[in-house]
This record gives sequence, structure tokens and C-alpha cells, in this order.
Amino acid sequence: KSQAKKFTPSETQTTFDDVAGMDHAKKELQEVVEFLKEPSKFQRLGAEIPKGVLLMGPPGTGKTLVARAVAGEAGVPFYSINGSEFIQMFVGVGASRVRDMFKTAKESAPCILFIDEIDAVGRVRGAGVGGGHDEREQTLNQILSEMDGFESTMAVIVIAATNRPDVLDPALLRPGRFDRHVAVDRPSREGRLGILKVHARKVKLAEGVKLEEVANSTIGFSGAELKNLVNEAALHAAREGKTEIEMEDFDSARDKIMMGVPREDIMNE
Ligand code: ATP
Repeated sequence: KSQAKKFTPSETQTTFDDVAGMDHAKKELQEVVEFLKEPSKFQRLGAEIPKGVLLMGPPGTGKTLVARAVAGEAGVPFYSINGSEFIQMFVGVGASRVRDMFKTAKESAPCILFIDEIDAVGRVRGAGVGGGHDEREQTLNQILSEMDGFESTMAVIVIAATNRPDVLDPALLRPGRFDRHVAVDRPSREGRLGILKVHARKVKLAEGVKLEEVANSTIGFSGAELKNLVNEAALHAAREGKTEIEMEDFDSARDKIMMGVPREDIMNE
């Protein structure tokens, strides 16, 4: 098949240190890390480990990052696919792609299989106006049957991410499937400061830069937006011919990004 692109894991050196804030999510996922590190410890006791974990939260809040960090912490391969990729495939390819994907994952256990934007393929079945969603439904059905088809003692953990948990087919959320739900919210002030610190490691800050103040003035920003803020500030400083990033570079960067942040999000805090 021409479509059969090889499904290979990405190198991941990401660890929980790269993930700021998200203490709740990290705590929930620590159990998964422990299991992947030493499956036999759990398997010999017959302990049931979740097969599927659903990360729910707005775009850019670090869902992909934290899933990668789980693989990095455990030292296992990280396989990832975007739900929308299934939709773009030729008729009949989606389901067989899901089969191949699970086969590869099972062969490389222990490992993480990450499905980003699962809502693209996991919307409620039979809800399409005028039908025509057979292809997507077949793909979804295949995901469901693959998840039912392996034992919960098998060291493959499927992590899925969505910012639309409300549209998901309830069948995906049943016990033995994505039955563990972890909410990932926009960062608090403290979370923002932590995220700024993570990304400021890679740049040169002037003495007078107060990241606390930057955190105070970025209410509603997601992790991805904060990362972008640090980069925009660095670009601004470079354009001005400076050798260090100053507070005013952060101010201009913030104003620039603010224009792209929807107002209701800013009012959330
Ligand atoms: P989407 O739903 O749009 O895929 P996401 O929730 O998966 O978004 P990521 O892709 O993980 O978000 O985040 C984008 C980038 O933003 C990350 O690679 C990281 O650099 C930065 N980032 C986001 N959240 C955090 C965080 N909590 N700590 C540090 N960096 C973060």
C-alpha cells in the first residue's frame, strides 16, 4: 500500500522538568510512568493499570508536552498520531492504519501511543448531518476494538488529547478504554511564572527583567503563548540590536500577542 508510511517513535528527551505547572496532571500521570518503567512489578500482582488516559483542555496548554514527558520519564518509545490524519486518508485506509498502529505499539511495549485531537475521529457516531461518516466511524470502531483487544496488564498506554471532550462518543470513555480523565487548564499565575522560567533558560535576560511581573501581566495566556512570548521578546531585542532581553521587549511582545488572544479568555481569571 502506498499509504503505509512507517510508524516510528520519536526520540523524546522531554521530562517532567520541561513541564511547568500542571502539578495535578503530572501527579496523575506519575502512576503511568511507574508502570511503564517496571511493568512486571504491577503485572505479577495482577494490578489493573489504565489502558487509556484522556487529557482534556484548551489548545496550547501542554497536553502533547506532558504526554511526551511521560515517555521521557519512563524511558519508553513515544508513538504519536493526530486524529485528523485519519480523516485525510483514502477510503478504507483509516481502520487498517489503526490496526497497524496498535500492532507496532504492542510489539514495542512498554510504550506510549499518543493520539492528539482525538475528537477529529472520535465524535459521536451517527450524528453526522446527512450521514456520509462511515469512514470515520469505521476508524473509530477500530480504535475501540483495538483497545478492548489488549489486556490491561499489557504495557501499552494510550494517551489521547482533546479540547472538545463534549463531542466525544461516550463509547470511548467507557471502562477499559479512555476511562482516566485528566483536565489540563490554562496556567495560574504561579504556573505562568514556572513556564516563563522553563523557556527563559534558553535565552539571555537582562538583570532588570522580573519574570514575576511578566507572569502578572499575562493572565489567560496558555503555555504555548508564553513560550511564544519569550521568543517574541528575544526577537524584539535582537531587532533593536541588544545583547540581552529587557523588560520593554517583553512589554512589546506581550502587546503583540495580546491582540491575538480572545477577550473572553483574558476575562477567565
Ligand atoms: P494542542 O492542543 O494545540 O496540541 P497542547 O496542549 O498539546 O496543544 P503543546 O503542543 O504541548 O500544547 O504546547 C505547545 C508548546 O508550548 C510546548 O511544546 C511547550 O514548549 C509550551 N508549553 C505548553 N505548556 C507548557 C508547560 N506547562 N510548561 C512548559 N512549556 C509549555
